Amino acid sequence: MGAERDGVARSGKFEVEGFGRAGDTRADVVDKEEFDRFERDIQRQRRELRAAGKPEAEMDELFRKEREKEDAMLGSQKYAGKVGAFEGANYEAKGYYRPEVDCIMFTRHKTFCAVCRRAIERVIGMYAG
Ligand SMILES: [Zn+2]
Repeated sequence: MGAERDGVARSGKFEVEGFGRAGDTRADVVDKEEFDRFERDIQRQRRELRAAGKPEAEMDELFRKEREKEDAMLGSQKYAGKVGAFEGANYEAKGYYRPEVDCIMFTRHKTFCAVCRRAIERVIGMYAG
């Protein structure tokens, strides 16, 4: 209880945040509609680049812009960097939950959140231990 590693409290329980708690103002949580609109637009641009046979450098640039915008949107959130349950994972906006606002289950960033890191460490430990 109370032990903390990588910023994660090891109390054995976590709070369910949904996409913000009751009482949070809309500004406290990601505007999911704006986020979904942005992601749909990126997917459309990706399909157009593929269909036009554009070079990979253009696709890489699109990914870079997408990541920059996601970092700005998610990093400014009230619960950024906190462990909880945030709706939106498994490529779905609803019905699945991820453990941090910025988690690879939601974004495709190259870093893992505290919960994903812990899960990976456990699996590695299981095989290496
Ligand atoms: Zn994660």
